[in-house]
Amino acid sequence: MRASHLFAPTLREVPSDAELISHRLLLRAGFIRKLAAGVYSYLPLGWKVHQKISQIVREEMNAIGGQEMLMPSLVPSELMEESGRIGVDVLFHLKDRSLRDFVLGFTHEEVITDIARNSMRSWRQLPILLYQIQTKFRDEPRPRGGLVRVREFTMKDGYSFDYDEEGMDRQYQANYKAYCTIFTRCGLEYLAVDADAGAIGGSVNKEFMLLADSGEDTVLQCDACGYAVNAERADIGASLTENNVDSCKSTKTGGEVVSTPEMHTVQQVCEFLKVSPQRLIKTIIVTAGEQPIAALVRGDRELNLSKLGRHLGKPVQMATPDVIERVTGAPVGYAGPVGLNGVPIIADNELKGSKDMVVGANEANAHRIHVTPEIDFKITQWNDIRTATAGDRCGQPSCNGSYRETRGIEVGHIFKLGVKYSQAMNAKIQNEKGEMQDILMGCYGLGISRVMASAIEAHHDDDGIIWPISIAPYEVVIIPVNPSDELQCQAAEKLYDQLLSKGVDALLDDRKERSGVKFNDADLVGYPVRVVIGRSLQEGKFEISLRREKSKRELVPIEDAPSYIASLVLKLKSELN
Ligand SMILES: [Zn+2]
Repeated sequence: MRASHLFAPTLREVPSDAELISHRLLLRAGFIRKLAAGVYSYLPLGWKVHQKISQIVREEMNAIGGQEMLMPSLVPSELMEESGRIGVDVLFHLKDRSLRDFVLGFTHEEVITDIARNSMRSWRQLPILLYQIQTKFRDEPRPRGGLVRVREFTMKDGYSFDYDEEGMDRQYQANYKAYCTIFTRCGLEYLAVDADAGAIGGSVNKEFMLLADSGEDTVLQCDACGYAVNAERADIGASLTENNVDSCKSTKTGGEVVSTPEMHTVQQVCEFLKVSPQRLIKTIIVTAGEQPIAALVRGDRELNLSKLGRHLGKPVQMATPDVIERVTGAPVGYAGPVGLNGVPIIADNELKGSKDMVVGANEANAHRIHVTPEIDFKITQWNDIRTATAGDRCGQPSCNGSYRETRGIEVGHIFKLGVKYSQAMNAKIQNEKGEMQDILMGCYGLGISRVMASAIEAHHDDDGIIWPISIAPYEVVIIPVNPSDELQCQAAEKLYDQLLSKGVDALLDDRKERSGVKFNDADLVGYPVRVVIGRSLQEGKFEISLRREKSKRELVPIEDAPSYIASLVLKLKSELN
């Protein structure tokens, strides 16, 4: 490609809402353009990176027996009703001209299960692994961060089909290994962590996290056993000293209602009553189906709804304001555990042994002080229901370590689904004994656009992007310094042809621009190898440098340059194996 033909409009001013470095650099260097919140066009440079990532994914999926296919984005709503996912809140809904309901696919378990139930008959057809690289739609509440959280994006989603547990495990492990290879080839340092299954479901799953300070997920890793887990999913080990407020010597009980006018947040109440948040119990009214439940956590902790749901064996939601008012007799913000008749109270383990606490009074503008659990009110169930944070005990059995905290961007997620979808949608095959049984499934997601953004989060400097060579838009940029110097231009043209014939993906910057502009653009776009044709041409040499070590420059004789550059490209690629 010649830079004079390349459509890569760079930006001087980056929109102020672009917070992540990958977002800013992708806009500035002309890789993407925003159409609407969370909706982006890929310009030629961006699409080239996208295709290189897709190709790596394709090669590794094919290597484990995957077969590529393509499913539609337009999905009849009945399929989502069959699986029970019609209520998933990120679904885009639409109607056709006959007013039939459709959704835009946010992942394709239903569509593939529909294909399976109509086309898979016997265990002899299995195992099967199908995948697609396709556009997905999610109506995210807060699209942000450029390509990290978007409403339309490209995902590789794969689905495995087996008739026994061993087969399902085998395919899950094969996909796990393929993902490790993919991220390594893309130049990403990842961590595979246990995670919440979310809207996909299933028993076992692993998330692949790129560790980056800008990541929106909190990843916890045990300092003793190394166990890594998404904070959303992390179990907390039993504490040696359950009473975390044992510094409080008071034994006051019985409670006393005090006025806390217009105090709504934990911080406001604590400052007003002059107590630390550890001395306050948050009472959160949730619902499991129709049943209201009071969940108690310490004032400085967060209730974890999915954890609570797992303990109860059913999904849990925050209660609506009218339920809260009906249950507590008070406006939102003043719920407390004392006098909540007929409402089960589930308390976080950390509150065991706590005493002389502050709780909501179940009346407006009031809190109750000197309250002690199990004396002033009964706990229906103790459990681990809060979100883990740094310093909490590791949740692995018989481990005494504690969690450290890092940030991560989720780039892939693999699941053993078991019979979740095949049972709901009646996808059966005949097994070896001639009986009909549910098909065992796995599903394997990988965000192509997220890999692109994550690679930049991990590899950049003040001047721009430093692409891993495997996914760089071009491997080599050739820069003749003075466009009006005939000899420089001829040498550049010749090298360009030689590199192309050696299979090197090269860009010739033949623009009639000042050299400073070309160098800045080369740094911003992030080509891994740079060849400068300038003053050293008089000595019969080109100046070659790597984007990642700009200060280190090699002078290479013109006649050696093509094979030198080709082997340099191969060496950089082999580092990513
Ligand atoms: Zn541990």
